Amino acid sequence: MSYQKGTQCVQGGYTPGNGEPRQIPIIQSTTFKYATSEDMGKLFDLEASGYFYTRLQNPTNDYVAAKIAELEGGTAAILTSSGQAASFFAVFNICSQGDHVVSSSTIYGGTYNLFAVTMKRMGIDFTFVSPDCSDEELNAAFRENTKAVFGETIANPALKVLDIERFAKAAHAHGVPLIVDNTFATPVNCRPFEWGADIVTHSTTKYMDGHGAGVGGCIVDSGKFDWMAHAEKFPGLCTPDDSYHGITYAEKFGQGGAFITKCTAQLMRDFGSIQSPQNAFILNLGLESLHVRMKRHCENGQAVAEFLSGHEKVTWVKYSGLPGDEDYALAQKYLPNGGCGVVSFGVKGGRKAAENFMKHLKLAAIETHVADARTCCLHPASATHRQMNDEELAAAGVSPDLVRFSCGLEDAADLIADLDQALAQI
Ligand SMILES: *Cc1c(COP(=O)(O)O)cnc(C)c1O
Repeated sequence: MSYQKGTQCVQGGYTPGNGEPRQIPIIQSTTFKYATSEDMGKLFDLEASGYFYTRLQNPTNDYVAAKIAELEGGTAAILTSSGQAASFFAVFNICSQGDHVVSSSTIYGGTYNLFAVTMKRMGIDFTFVSPDCSDEELNAAFRENTKAVFGETIANPALKVLDIERFAKAAHAHGVPLIVDNTFATPVNCRPFEWGADIVTHSTTKYMDGHGAGVGGCIVDSGKFDWMAHAEKFPGLCTPDDSYHGITYAEKFGQGGAFITKCTAQLMRDFGSIQSPQNAFILNLGLESLHVRMKRHCENGQAVAEFLSGHEKVTWVKYSGLPGDEDYALAQKYLPNGGCGVVSFGVKGGRKAAENFMKHLKLAAIETHVADARTCCLHPASATHRQMNDEELAAAGVSPDLVRFSCGLEDAADLIADLDQALAQI
């Protein structure tokens, strides 16, 4: 039977047997012992499942990945060393030199750089479209060699909400999967598979870990995309892999297992971007309270957004939980129980005033981080985007006055009082 999300957060992925540890054991071992070479040979041939080397797979990671797969409603998952590794693997698993991807333009800056610079250098082309583009514009972005569509449920830091159903329909009409980075919403607030997404990625560094303790990522497969029906587009999944004695992943592991098995057997083997079992254990501690924490992050986000939108020294507020927000209708559809705790807003007086305001914050720490138990905030124009002039900032969708405020788990009244006193001093 399938449990509710809260129960899955606490108990999913790992069921100890009689006399076994109640908490997920940290298997701190690089390697695993076998009685015969034949036994091990079967693992190398993917004839049997088991562990042989932690660069590819580790039991601790697999328990935690299974929990996230359950939460997302997927068939298989893999933990990666970071969110960046998850985004890279999710795309590179089905794209190679000469291929093309359609991506939302309002994605995380690190992902944008990975796609537009590093993967472009590997011969993979990206077309970026606004999440608000018309159906005509979206369809026009596809090419013969397009292999995937990519977007974020709630974009970091633009906080745009993706119309997942619309993007999934367009992807499927062109015979390719939709990959959704679900970092900010988490499966507690949105399950993209229910709206047609095929692959989900996470930076587990954010709400899933939730305590600013461990960098990590995750990829989950819905098992719903029929690779064999589009075999000519996905030769990596649908034709024999010479590095595994001619196994065809989509045949041998089926629709529900092919994507993650290939990701493990090829990409982890060759790139080794695996999460350490220690970090997977820490991630699981975060997951055990994710459903409780997300509720509080969202309550604080809503309270702070409402306070800021009525303040005379604030020129604009972006939070999809505000009834006047451009994405309010989308949020009501995809995020009925709340989105996330991150709020963006503009300080009256522009770049200088925003810098000045930040100086006066006492509780909110200035950090290049979001989605932490402790409230943190960032003025991109004087930090991550400081090389850019006002014109370049506008093109990147980051205005000079923008402050990104990530509400933690503190009491909303204290966060509001901190904002209030800092705004009063500018
Ligand atoms: C932080 C982040 C990433 C990158 O994750 P890391 O764990 O920092 O590598 C990817 N996507 C989103 C939406 C993020 O916020």
